[in-house]
Amino acid sequence: MPVTIYNTLTRRKEALVPGEPGQVRMYVCGPTTYNLIHLGNARPLVVFDTFRRYLEYRGYRVTYVQNFTDIDDKIIARAAEEGLDPGVLADKYIAEYFLDAAALGVRPATVHPQVSQHIADIVAMIRSLVDKEYAYAADGNVYFAVDRFAGYGKLSRRSPEEMLVGARAEIEGDKRSPLDFALWKKAKPGEPWWESPWGPGRPGWHSECAAMALRYLGSGFDIHGGGYDLVFPHHENEIAQAESYTGQPFARYWMHNGFITVDQEKMSKSLGNFFLLREILRRFPGPVIRFYLLSTHYRHPLDFDLEGLEGSARGLARWQKTLDELEQRLGGRAGEAATSGPAHPLREQVAATRETFVAALDDDFNTPAAMAALFALVRETNSFLARSQTGDDAGTLAAVRACLKELGEQVLGVLPLAGQAAPSSREAQVVTGLVDLLLEVRSLARQHRDWAMADMIRDRLAGLGIGVEDTPGGTRWEWRG
Ligand SMILES: [Zn+2]
Repeated sequence: MPVTIYNTLTRRKEALVPGEPGQVRMYVCGPTTYNLIHLGNARPLVVFDTFRRYLEYRGYRVTYVQNFTDIDDKIIARAAEEGLDPGVLADKYIAEYFLDAAALGVRPATVHPQVSQHIADIVAMIRSLVDKEYAYAADGNVYFAVDRFAGYGKLSRRSPEEMLVGARAEIEGDKRSPLDFALWKKAKPGEPWWESPWGPGRPGWHSECAAMALRYLGSGFDIHGGGYDLVFPHHENEIAQAESYTGQPFARYWMHNGFITVDQEKMSKSLGNFFLLREILRRFPGPVIRFYLLSTHYRHPLDFDLEGLEGSARGLARWQKTLDELEQRLGGRAGEAATSGPAHPLREQVAATRETFVAALDDDFNTPAAMAALFALVRETNSFLARSQTGDDAGTLAAVRACLKELGEQVLGVLPLAGQAAPSSREAQVVTGLVDLLLEVRSLARQHRDWAMADMIRDRLAGLGIGVEDTPGGTRWEWRG
């Protein structure tokens, strides 16, 4: 049976058939880095990280791109409040992001492109759209002419009237039509800006993701993901630009996770009803939060409550306790090779558990059903352990242990329960400060024409997953997978 996922574009569950056999290319919209992430931001991280792990378990190679929006109105406003340069503020919260992600067991993506590092790609795309008259410049801004793209609305399936309601807040004097959206925004005094054919300015959010997805994955890549709130206008606008630019389909499958709500209302910074992940990590280990997020189907809304988290803590503790007991019984023995003793029905249940687990995740990534299969195995194992004597059945016990580790640790990423300690802001600040310091040393080395030293610093940082790029505006760095 193939992996099937619900495709927002077609409103159907479909078999996932990658463009290139054995290789899945996936882009997921990442955070705007102006604050610590809240639980609602954490859900897509965990969902898509687990989905990636599952695809790998099913034998696919996965190229996973998750961006950082490090140029944005909110970043500029927050930087002004904190008295920081917007680039410094964004780097600070990128470092914080990686601490939170690590606490949740979220692996770094293959690439984490940052907008500030891809202005040339974005400008090239916008310039081509203007040349082909899909976009127009007006007083230093550039807008996409929505009526030039016949497919507009195909993802969100909204009528023009409905889309207008969403766009009303954006009506500005120099747009030709209220639905048109900004690809390039003219610089306002005091804001960061980059040169462009239309004068100094910065890219619009929708252009950033479209250009970076195309840059790393090419057109017609497999999966574009994100929160359900991004369907309109963000993803609709990405499609309009990318498909007008390349003349090809943009992404073939669209996956969207549901909201996290509090008392049935969407958790968001603007509503002020959010829980910072960092606050929750002070009370619950990362694996428990991950377990909690995966206990609800990714497309369903998840109404946040502490009792739910406490329930997850108890549930995951049972898995860990069973695993610990197995380790203790098996001792140092590899166990996998041991076949002594009669075959027990539990042995068959291990095989059945794997089948049920895979069938559940193949069916639109049904994590709660997959977890229920593991719960059943844990229950049976516990009653088996209560009856069996040490020394017998090593093969059976080893099979259970291998199954729990493989599915609970490698695929779901919720074991071991101990996980990582909650990170501190202090660590993130120190990491950012140290990288900045090294880059200053490198810049001095370059001034003294000490190329060997400059190259060594760049290479060693690359070894730590930090990419360094020298641009006319100075040296920038970003996290790479
Ligand atoms: Zn995006």
